Parts: sequence; structure tokens; C-alpha cells
Amino acid sequence: SDARDYVRSLVRTVPDWPEPGVQFRDITPVLKSARGLRTLVDIFVDRYFDARLDYVAGLDARGFLIGPIVAYELNVGFVPIRKAGKLPWKTVHESYDLEYGSATVEIHADACDAGDRIVLIDDLIATGGTMLAGKALLERLGAKVIEAAALIDLPDLGGAQRLRASGLPVFTICEFE
Ligand code: IMP
Repeated sequence: SDARDYVRSLVRTVPDWPEPGVQFRDITPVLKSARGLRTLVDIFVDRYFDARLDYVAGLDARGFLIGPIVAYELNVGFVPIRKAGKLPWKTVHESYDLEYGSATVEIHADACDAGDRIVLIDDLIATGGTMLAGKALLERLGAKVIEAAALIDLPDLGGAQRLRASGLPVFTICEFE
């Protein structure tokens, strides 16, 4: 659609960052543009307007730039899923494998309740590992994760496919090779 194409046109590709061979997809120009930001948020708000959500959950760190705006517009609260060691209260955590090493994400144990309907938001899906870890945390609190939503999918890395195979629907605004 025009809205999706417009958002995609604002994504900046940075070659060889953070390391040689990586093409980093940078969403800051989407956020910088008043029309880009509004279009981005409106796409997600339209998508979940009738979803009867209880919360929007965002993934550290760029999910924090999008998720709260969408939550505000949907008149629901926002739940942060953070990298390990940042949350002050009682947490549950989940580790997952990266290309080199592993990562851990955490959520407050009282971040949501059993039966809550939640959409998970991040900027980009690559392997899907981050979204899967977020889903695992929310499900350990008894929540129902309705969908994984991201601005960008990198289909060559198979993340969206992996998420769908786990039973989690996926919604993304655009794709890059
Ligand atoms: P995954 O866990 O392999 O799906 O990687 C997705 C996570 O890595 C997300 O939290 C993204 O913010 C981050 N990420 C990986 N590649 C990029 C990129 O090219 N641009 C922005 N974020 C990226």
C-alpha cells in the first residue's frame, strides 16, 4: 500500500554497521519525519484497533520507540521487555542464542496477568529469536500473545517463518533482502 511504501522509503540502509558485511536497517529517519512517524503509528493502530488488547509490549530498545505511542493511541498500557539487569523489581528471564554467544531478556513478574491479550512490538525481525524470547516471557506470565508486529522483516533470515511455525502470527510493514 502507499502507506507501507512510504514508511519503507524512509528506512536508511547503513552498510558495514555494526560490523563488516552487515547492512543495518535504520528506522531513525522514519521517526524523524512527522509524516513517517504518523503513518507508521497509524498502520499499527488500525491493525489492532479491534483486537481488544490489554497491553502493548515492546522489546528493548527500539520497540520502546514505537510501542508506547501505539499503546497510547489504543488506550492501553505499555509493558517493557528489557535486556538483563535493567529492571528493578522481581523479574522472570529468558535466554536465547545469538550468532555468537547468547542474550537474556527480562520482564517484571507483575507486568501483566493471566489471560491478558498482548501484541509484541519491535523495529525489526531478523532470526526471530528476540520476539520468541519475548513471547516465552509473556506466556510464562499467562498472557496470550496475539501477534508479533515489526516495522521491518528480513525474510531471508527466516524469523517470521519461525515465529509463525511456533504458532505466533506476524505482522510487518515492509521487507528488505
Ligand atoms: P532477531 O532476534 O535475530 O530477530 O533480531 C532482531 C533484533 O535485532 C531486534 O531487536 C532488532 O532491533 C535488532 N536488529 C537486528 N538487525 C537489525 C537491523 O538491521 N536494524 C535494526 N535492528 C536490528
